[in-house]
Amino acid sequence: MQVSLTRRSMFTGRPTARSAPPMRPPWALVEDAFLDACTLCDKCLSACDEGILHRGAGRYPEVNFKSGECTFCKACVDVCVDDALHIDADASEPKPWHMLAKIDDKCLSANAITCRVCGDRCDVRAIQFKLAVGGIADPIIDDALCTGCGACVAPCPTNSVTINSKTEERAA
Ligand code: SF4
Ligand code: SF4
Ligand code: SF4
Repeated sequence: MQVSLTRRSMFTGRPTARSAPPMRPPWALVEDAFLDACTLCDKCLSACDEGILHRGAGRYPEVNFKSGECTFCKACVDVCVDDALHIDADASEPKPWHMLAKIDDKCLSANAITCRVCGDRCDVRAIQFKLAVGGIADPIIDDALCTGCGACVAPCPTNSVTINSKTEERAA
């Protein structure tokens, strides 16, 4: 996902997204409010035992699922005293984010090779395999079940899985 720095943002350190913003930690405020609230303290990076939070453009935290998955432990939210990561106490079931897994055509199944690694890693069983012509089963993601946790990203031998916002998914 590309984030460019405008001339102004290079002075302020604030990233300016020309396309979709980078993936922020769970329960992040909407992008502009997040950038206003985050003080670049790095506490969320240190709090994440999974090691999936990294400094991104402008030193703001971003998620990288190559290091692990989000367990939704809320440790990052708990240390964010500036409320850039915030759980609304009034919401009955506050969603951490609106992200979904997507599988591209590098998938081994799409190339007539049997593989079920991603499905084996999905705790909520959002990836089911549908038998296709030739006896190879294709992975199908159930958007209603997928939490965007990223557990299926790193284990995929062909780097076929990405996590995208629901808006991007619909536009794809
Ligand atoms: S919820 Fe837990 S695992 Fe997920 S990014 Fe925050 S600290 Fe890391
Ligand atoms: S792990 Fe990767 S290659 Fe294997 S079925 Fe899933 S998306 Fe395809
Ligand atoms: S992102 Fe998580 S919930 Fe969604 S398909 Fe991958 S492992 Fe399953």
